[in-house]
Amino acid sequence: MKNKLPALTPLTASWVDHLVQKKEVLTGLIEKYGSPINIHHLKMFDENIDLFKKVGKKNGINSKIFYARKANKSKFLVERTKDKNIGVDTASYNELKQCIELGIDANDLVLTAAIKNEKLITYAIENRVLIILDNDDECMITQTIAKKLGKKAIVGFRISGFNVEDKKLYSRFGFDIEKVSKSILLTRPGRTLENLDYTGLHFHLDGYSIKERAAAIFKALEIAKELFYHYLKTRFIDIGGGILINYLASKEEWETFQDQLKKAVLTNTDPITFKNNGLGFSKVDDKIVGRLKTYPFYNEINKGKFLDQLLNSTNAASDSVADLLQIQNIQLRLEPGRSLLDQVGITVARVAFRKKDSNDNTLVGLEMNMSQMSSSSEDFLLDPKVIFLNYDENESPSEVYFVGAYCLERDVLLQRRISVKRIPEIGDLVVFINTAGYMMHFFETEAHLFDLSCNLAFTSDPDALKLSDFRSDE
Ligand SMILES: *Cc1c(COP(=O)(O)O)cnc(C)c1O
Repeated sequence: MKNKLPALTPLTASWVDHLVQKKEVLTGLIEKYGSPINIHHLKMFDENIDLFKKVGKKNGINSKIFYARKANKSKFLVERTKDKNIGVDTASYNELKQCIELGIDANDLVLTAAIKNEKLITYAIENRVLIILDNDDECMITQTIAKKLGKKAIVGFRISGFNVEDKKLYSRFGFDIEKVSKSILLTRPGRTLENLDYTGLHFHLDGYSIKERAAAIFKALEIAKELFYHYLKTRFIDIGGGILINYLASKEEWETFQDQLKKAVLTNTDPITFKNNGLGFSKVDDKIVGRLKTYPFYNEINKGKFLDQLLNSTNAASDSVADLLQIQNIQLRLEPGRSLLDQVGITVARVAFRKKDSNDNTLVGLEMNMSQMSSSSEDFLLDPKVIFLNYDENESPSEVYFVGAYCLERDVLLQRRISVKRIPEIGDLVVFINTAGYMMHFFETEAHLFDLSCNLAFTSDPDALKLSDFRSDE
């Protein structure tokens, strides 16, 4: 007998529950703006900001949030940061320029772009925006430009190579912790980088470990102390992003899904993913090897709790992160992207066709493409919601794959086979939950000259939404 497909029920915000009941509003939006659309509820963004502020306050530290805007392209979120008194982390010339044009104060901006050319550095210096330097070449170029302009460049130094449990964490970014002081000391008067005004340290770690982040802060605090002996004051330590969020309602579902995935890969029967894709698991010598290469979608320690645990982590001398930041009078800066966007957005697409593929799978074609819901992770492991426009009391459960508009065999929107109570009809809508962080924008492309998806936002009461409550980001 065939196993039932494992469900992965998403956590949904109540605004989403309200909106999916409003079929005429959703179909109206799709008619007006095309498919797919991305809908954002800005009040959820506010709530996430307030949560992090509260945790900072509770722990008695001076903290400041910079929203990592690379996680979502919409301007209305950037505008919202002004009302909420937080900053913005920018990662390119266009991101920075747009923020300045939207009236964000220079003190509320940080430039962390991985590649910075002369045009970008000049623009940042002229606008007095903090530049996070990554390497000696960047220091030299920034010094040259600042000197030519007769100005000081406000800078921080990105650091990496932290030691955690006797292992050095690899990163291609930043100065090695053993060498960074030497470069920072050159910013003192009369030295070769004297047009750089050193203000703080920055890191952004790969992965989501609290322990690694705590170790990195302790090391940054040590470096700050050492620099202080040379009259260089570290005003902030910026810990980047990577605060975990939780996407899923049930731990049991999350575990069952992984067990069934491994079983399907091992036995090569009852696939639960497209072409039995192991999403990181594979079979070698009749054993499962590898690990799930997706975002860790289920997390009990997330958002506020994650930050709280980090601030309460202690070093060998039993001093906590929060205590040491206070003692050394250093501001903690955060650059959350995904976690500020938790429950902020959904993506809605229209069903274009149903068919059988050459393996007799049922495919449901949606008016969208793989780049409009994709991240660096192997798959988005959340069940979508199907909105059936016509009432039909007959339910005939089925299992389908959702496929997109790119001319690639691999444009399968979700790798998982999805249970539906019946096969959707043309014109029905499929809603992907919690997509505002990275999923909807990060890899979006215009191949085939498809229009980019339209971004919409509302702030009004979710239980009385009308078509006119939504505004487009254009
Ligand atoms: C991507 C990035 C962030 C945001 O990370 P999240 O995991 O989305 O919170 C913050 N800072 C830097 C430097 C980044 O590259």
